[in-house]
Amino acid sequence: MANPKRRHSPSRRDKRRAHWRKVETPCLSVCPQCKEPKLPHRVCGNCGYYNGIEVIKVKAKKEKGKEKEKDTKSAKEGA
Ligand SMILES: [Zn+2]
Repeated sequence: MANPKRRHSPSRRDKRRAHWRKVETPCLSVCPQCKEPKLPHRVCGNCGYYNGIEVIKVKAKKEKGKEKEKDTKSAKEGA
């Protein structure tokens, strides 16, 4: 029977056991509605659309940075 010639070092063993820890980059597809990355076959978390239909209503439709600027302006005007 084939046998290993040498015993594996603890380092080698631990490296093998640590393999599950590897960071898997999640598969992402691009939302056709808002062009944001989303999980495939899932409702887009950014705009709430799936297959061209609004499935869930997202409370605040964020546009990076722009919304915050508007909010601060309106807050200043109100005060
Ligand atoms: Zn989207």
